[in-house]
Amino acid sequence: MNTSFTEQAKRMTIGSEKFNVPMPQTFDDPLKQREYDKQRLAAGFRVFALHGFDEGLAGHITQRDCIDPETFWVNPVGIHFAHIKASDLVRVDHKGNIIDGNSPINTAAFAIHSRIHQARPDVNAVAHAHTKYGRAFSALGKELAPISQDACVFYQNHTVFDVFTGVVAELSEGDMIAESLGDKIAVILQNHGLLTVGKSLDAAVANFALMDSCCQSQLLAQAAGEMRLIDHDIAIKTRQANGSDLVTWGNFQPLYQIVAAQDNSFLD
Ligand SMILES: [Zn+2]
Repeated sequence: MNTSFTEQAKRMTIGSEKFNVPMPQTFDDPLKQREYDKQRLAAGFRVFALHGFDEGLAGHITQRDCIDPETFWVNPVGIHFAHIKASDLVRVDHKGNIIDGNSPINTAAFAIHSRIHQARPDVNAVAHAHTKYGRAFSALGKELAPISQDACVFYQNHTVFDVFTGVVAELSEGDMIAESLGDKIAVILQNHGLLTVGKSLDAAVANFALMDSCCQSQLLAQAAGEMRLIDHDIAIKTRQANGSDLVTWGNFQPLYQIVAAQDNSFLD
């Protein structure tokens, strides 16, 4: 078990010494890890479907392969998030060669995600979609403000990529997005949508759902009146607590439970 997660769980819960706190699974067998990772990625798409993050052919989530980290898994083009199974996923290398799978993949998915996976060795998953609230907020060309403890997760922890030149098709644009992201957890792609990253698939998808929800909250607050912002020091402290690896990973677990209870065909 991850020691730092255990220590965090002790700090953040009462009774964790007596009762089990859910923790990320670990594997000795890399093939079992790969199978689990693919199922987790497929579940991530079901979570996107649950939130209505689908928009036609748009949207992609990727997961670095645990056996060959120079390759990553991505959704096949043209399958609704609600129908994606682990066996549908496609593995591609950084040159665009399809290594595993039986489907073409989205050009933008490759151009953006391959460059982020290359630029950020600490990142194992990247999520991107054109959501209603993310898209609306992206048109403002500004960062999320620290207006709630949830928004503090993104405080000084995301950027705005303010270049929109059409649908991303070139690796050079992926490089620019990766550069804008830097060492942060998310980037608002102006006039486009949101993109989040995580050490795990669980974290990237949970960050995405949270960020879209924070965009909605800020749009509502801005429309209603003048916003009161959380002070810098408190925002940083809140980010350190609510944006910790354990909490970020943990935020995905209730979402996983919902999709697994509804229809666990993503495991296939
Ligand atoms: Zn896009």
